[in-house]
Amino acid sequence: SYAFGEPVKDWDSKRREWLKLHPSFAAGAAVDNRVLLVTGSQPTVCKNPVGDHLQLRLFKNKVDYCRIHGLDIFYNNVLLDPKGTGFWAKYPLLRAAMLAHPESEWIWWVDSDAVLTDMEFKLPLEKYKDHNLVVHGWWNMLYEQKSWTSLNAGVLLIRNCQWSLNLLDKWASMGPQGPDPKNWGKIQKSLIKDKAYPGSDDQSALIYLLIKEKSKWADKIYLESEYNLHGYWLGIVDGLDGISKGYLEIDREVDLLRRRHAEKVSLFYGQMREKYMRERGIWRENKRRPFVTHFTGCEPCSGEHNGMYTWEACWNGMQKALNFADNQVLRRFGFVHPDLLNSSWSLSVEDLSTPARGVPGTALLVSKLEES
Ligand code: UDP
Ligand code: MN
Repeated sequence: SYAFGEPVKDWDSKRREWLKLHPSFAAGAAVDNRVLLVTGSQPTVCKNPVGDHLQLRLFKNKVDYCRIHGLDIFYNNVLLDPKGTGFWAKYPLLRAAMLAHPESEWIWWVDSDAVLTDMEFKLPLEKYKDHNLVVHGWWNMLYEQKSWTSLNAGVLLIRNCQWSLNLLDKWASMGPQGPDPKNWGKIQKSLIKDKAYPGSDDQSALIYLLIKEKSKWADKIYLESEYNLHGYWLGIVDGLDGISKGYLEIDREVDLLRRRHAEKVSLFYGQMREKYMRERGIWRENKRRPFVTHFTGCEPCSGEHNGMYTWEACWNGMQKALNFADNQVLRRFGFVHPDLLNSSWSLSVEDLSTPARGVPGTALLVSKLEES
């Protein structure tokens, strides 16, 4: 059954059987690395007049990433369970996605308000071969401080297997789909002191399971902190111009080589960049592109936020992150947004590489990037 309430049993052997019957999907190592990105947004029109525009651009960003890396993507904007609204909407969806896509080893949930800001970065799946759930987080912060921000549930990789289905059932049972969400809200609040939201939330529910049912779940959960599987936007967006600058020089060299050697070079585009980055120390975290920039708290659809920052800060941050990511896509087409705060226009890469041509905006961009 695709619906909550009736647990799925024996999924691992059913899935194996399905793969046997569909040999084209079962071929070799590919099956272990097959990823389906799942994301979505609310079923109705956004209250905030710019919300749906942002949702479209946020979706485009994920589609671009999936196209570049050969991942499948599914966008959902219906409530599969009427009780599972807001951040709880993903649980019935993840469960249904696993059953509908037995060919996918991993389901990668990415909140709609998360931007993939490194279009070349590949998920290091090999690292997770003994784990079934990967989220961004820190073990010491989780167990020593029991902090709400010790992990983030907005971006997660979950293996398509029985263990995960069990976890999803358990996880969602603490939310509005379960019998007593109010009580779960209280239990979470008493455990997690810095929890702000009064009701039961999914991030707290996962923290609860890791603390209270550690022996049952923890050994299959990987808390990632070596790169930004989730990165909090406030700490990221101001640095994006500077990061662009670091890559600009490399981009220029790669573009030059690409013009000289045409398609041969584009094949090695990624590897070349890695080599240059290592040589120049751009590998360090503060100069490297963050993989994910998550606008958690910004609420693009409602435009409401938690009072720690203005809506303008959210909007500008989203422009920057979306254009920063889009520049990596446009570049392959030979174009670039010169100003991360301005989405509407782009320049050709040639104009950018030869500022002497005096194309309006180019010199400005180059000087802006070079002074930052
Ligand atoms: N979402 C959904 N359907 C809905 C409402 C939300 O699929 O009806 C998804 C959407 O992708 C959103 C995510 O749930 O990004 C989590 O909510 P949100 O990002 O607002 O939470 P925050 O990150 O701000 O805590
Ligand atoms: Mn979010």
